[in-house]
Amino acid sequence: MRQCHSLLVAALLLVPGSGMADPARVPMGPFDTPAEVGGVPVPGFDDEFERLDRGEIWKLDAVTTERRLVALAALVPPGDTHRALLYQSLRCNWGYRNDVRAQQEAAEEGLARAVQAGDREAQVRFRYCRAGAREQITTPQDALGDYIAGIDLARAIENPRLVADGLAARGGVQSLLGEQGHAVLDLLAAQRLYERAGDRNDADANVLNIAVAYRRMGDHGKAAEYLAQSEQYAVRSGDWTTLLSTLMQQGYLAEDENRPEEALARYQRALVVAQQQSSRSDIATAHLGMALPLILQRQYAQALQLLARTQLEFDAAGDRSSQGMLDLRRGQAHAGLGQHERALADYARAAVSIERGGNLRYQAMLYEARAVSDQALGHSAAAVVDLNRYIAAHEAVEQRNHSQQAEVLRYQVDAERSELENRRLSVEKAARDRQLAALLNARRWQWTALALGGLLLAVLGALVMRQFDRVRRLRELASTDPLTGVANRRSIELHGEAAMLHARALGHPLSVLILDVDHFKRINDACGHLAGDQVLAQVARACQEAMRQHDRLGRIGGEEFLVVLPSTRLAQAHPIAERLREAVAAVSLDAIGNGLKVTASIGVAELQATDADLKALLQRADLALYAAKAQGRDRVQLADTSQAELPLRAAPAEA
Ligand code: GH3
Ligand code: MG
Ligand code: MG
Repeated sequence: MRQCHSLLVAALLLVPGSGMADPARVPMGPFDTPAEVGGVPVPGFDDEFERLDRGEIWKLDAVTTERRLVALAALVPPGDTHRALLYQSLRCNWGYRNDVRAQQEAAEEGLARAVQAGDREAQVRFRYCRAGAREQITTPQDALGDYIAGIDLARAIENPRLVADGLAARGGVQSLLGEQGHAVLDLLAAQRLYERAGDRNDADANVLNIAVAYRRMGDHGKAAEYLAQSEQYAVRSGDWTTLLSTLMQQGYLAEDENRPEEALARYQRALVVAQQQSSRSDIATAHLGMALPLILQRQYAQALQLLARTQLEFDAAGDRSSQGMLDLRRGQAHAGLGQHERALADYARAAVSIERGGNLRYQAMLYEARAVSDQALGHSAAAVVDLNRYIAAHEAVEQRNHSQQAEVLRYQVDAERSELENRRLSVEKAARDRQLAALLNARRWQWTALALGGLLLAVLGALVMRQFDRVRRLRELASTDPLTGVANRRSIELHGEAAMLHARALGHPLSVLILDVDHFKRINDACGHLAGDQVLAQVARACQEAMRQHDRLGRIGGEEFLVVLPSTRLAQAHPIAERLREAVAAVSLDAIGNGLKVTASIGVAELQATDADLKALLQRADLALYAAKAQGRDRVQLADTSQAELPLRAAPAEA
């Protein structure tokens, strides 16, 4: 995200290529406005921006960078504020490689515009840009606020790559401030975000930051491991910025391990790369690095010469971030030449920035060197004070390294433990889920079976009921006369026989009457057969209504009906027959034929002991009917009872 103007700073806090996500691919946060995510994609601009932002720009030399930035500016659609701001933020981070003050101004201006436009993504990017400039102009401490605010904002707009950029940068600053434990945690978090986002370039570049933090906490093994990884990546991908920083870091590591020749070799390689890229501050940083190995090899004059050039180079770049180290090395070179007064003057200048910067390792170096010159000049008391300071700073560094290593270890153990715990929990959860699913499945089948069973029962029930109904209706049909709805001949005769058996068994009386419509032929002839049918139905209904509850009516011929009267003597049957006759005569047939009248003749007989069967009883009733017809019709005739002197078997006494 920022061009590191000083190689020292670059090495200390390299966050190359961090910065800007493709707006079209930024996940929409709940509060995002279309302006913040770029609205409709603009492939020309968006693709080139993504390429530069996430992969290429930090590998380009200054001239090519400028050319690509100009081309990108031309791709900003007219009136597209968001993309104009994205372009400006990229220029802010990469367009001022040799002028940090210009970078800071660009950042201030861009941030104001982004705030005005309500564009939070652009605000994050300009904050990171301003932080990058501040790290170099003043102290890393001054950059922290912008990184923290930027990370918060990036989280609010749910832009994981910008969060990662901020974490990587903040990790770098914390590393510079000696907070290696926090630094490593931030950097590893950034690394995870980059890897999750598939952001290979940034993930690879971040490896260097991790190496730096490990080196600073004195974990040389881890540092060497990550540096080797970083060098491989930088060479493979042609990422010169990362290569430069990696080489410088390998130099510092060699110094830490007291191998000045190897350190010098690394710095010389870094110098070649910086010169190829014409990066002034990187050349200066490489030169500054070479000073200590020269001093350790007692080449003080060369060291001083080199440092003079380095001073000019840093001044030209406006980079003050290495001033303390520069003065310290100059002092060491002067001391090597025996010029302790000049050395002390150098150290005094160095102390201002080194003590303000708060870097204990630098302080330890300074106090140790100053004690030597104090001693040489006979300032024993001052020498003792500085030696004590050196010991305190050195011990503090050692102790801090120790606790920082422990912190990272603890974090890693915790992370591993919670990873294990998470895995155990998720295995358990999966097992529970499976159990639950099986249970639900079983229950579902149970319910299904129950429901199916219920359905089956209901269907069977309905079928059974329908069958009953059908049987009942069939039986009814079989026993019912369709025209009149009363019992048919077969049915009424069966009923009569049953009643006879019943009467005989219980010694109850039983009477029957046969009713025949008078001159029915005439009705048919006069009104037609259909009208005749209607008359028959009316007659049957009239009889039915005139009967008692337990008497039963049936049609036994064309216009002939039989009525069975259980527990009824002839004398009781007589008025019933009269009632029926009257009912028939009262039937209104006006609807069928005007002035149409119908009458019936009725023969009544009571069961006698001599009656062999129902037929015999009916015959006597029939005879009585004939008699009624003969006497002029529309009348009731009781059967002759002269043969009935034999009383009913076990006839009950007449009540
Ligand atoms: P009587 O008073 O002597 O009984 O005279 P009748 O005309 O009623 O007697 P008859 O036995 O001569 O005639 C019966 C007629 O009933 C003959 C037949 O056409 C008619 N008949 C029989 N069954 C039906 C029927 O189901 N519907 C109709 N419309 N007429 C029927
Ligand atoms: Mg008849
Ligand atoms: Mg008749």
